[in-house]
Amino acid sequence: ESQLNPNYNFENFLEGDSNRLARSAGLAVANKPGGTSFNPLLIFGGVGLGKTHLAHAIGVDIKDKYPEKTVLYISAEKFTQQYIDAVKKNNRNDFIHFYQIIDVLIIDDVQFLSGKTGTQDVFFHIFNHLHQNGKQVILTSDKAPVDMQDIEQRLLSRFKWGLSAELQNPDFETRVSILKNKLYRDGVEMPEEIVEYVAKNIKSNVRELEGAIISLIAQSSFNKKEITLDLARIIVEKFVKNTKREVSIDYIQKVVSDYFQMDIDTLQSKTRKRHIVQARQLAMFFAKKFTKASLASIGSQIGKRDHATVLHACKTVDNLSSTDKQFRKYVEDISKKLSV
Ligand code: ADP
Ligand code: MG
Repeated sequence: ESQLNPNYNFENFLEGDSNRLARSAGLAVANKPGGTSFNPLLIFGGVGLGKTHLAHAIGVDIKDKYPEKTVLYISAEKFTQQYIDAVKKNNRNDFIHFYQIIDVLIIDDVQFLSGKTGTQDVFFHIFNHLHQNGKQVILTSDKAPVDMQDIEQRLLSRFKWGLSAELQNPDFETRVSILKNKLYRDGVEMPEEIVEYVAKNIKSNVRELEGAIISLIAQSSFNKKEITLDLARIIVEKFVKNTKREVSIDYIQKVVSDYFQMDIDTLQSKTRKRHIVQARQLAMFFAKKFTKASLASIGSQIGKRDHATVLHACKTVDNLSSTDKQFRKYVEDISKKLSV
């Protein structure tokens, strides 16, 4: 079982400036798995930009051209789970052996291996074996190798051996063609101006772009209403609002430092001055609360501190907000600013 999704193929992975390099590297790998210098091929980029789709497309194409090759797609999360289960059942060697006889191994979202040293270790050995035997490895990640946190150096250096290709935000024309292609495949007609309106307003995520169109179609058929620009406006607004709520650590630092009228450099500085330390601790606390970043990643982004410092900051903020009225007001004020 290859776990490949045949609907994620090259044909419906539309090309644009934002993905040209990654897409053509993928095609090159599919033509000659293990036989190009793109080994591993690492595809990286933000949420919903097509990493999973492209990874499947490569696998599907290889299976088409080389039916005798064993191709396996697996998410790093599932890989980790399988490994944990194997260790529990004393099957570590079987696990390794299973992966070492694959011709094309596709692991999705390798950033998930962050901090999981046991799984990284076993993957390192599997990777070496496959690579030495001319087998193809394809990886995806939400970050470039240089920006990955808590991944062992020896593994990171392997990630950089082949080609790292970025998927960027698609430009307007590509967004329009992705939408038109989707509508065409679903057999739905939609006025050009509405397609363009959606493509113009949803910029940073293909999944949301498609989501908005799907929800537009659903709303109109459910309410037996025509698809109008007004309906499109309402739906797009919902999508745009929801994405704004995802705050970044940079944004949190900006809001906190603005609140205390200091600049971000001051907030990140090494000083022990109480009000600056508190501002920094608040930034860490909110980063923990509002983002999915790990403690280590928060620490490194807020003045290059370690995870223990972040943990301490979170506890301090919890304590102070239950004992110190003024401090509690800080927390409430900043919370409000971050949640609009
Ligand atoms: P990621 O894994 O990067 O989060 P996905 O591969 O899940 O993103 O893509 C999200 C959605 O966007 C999928 O439905 C995918 O088919 C679609 N998509 C992304 N890029 C393209 C593209 N270039 N052409 C067509 N569809 C795309
Ligand atoms: Mg994905």
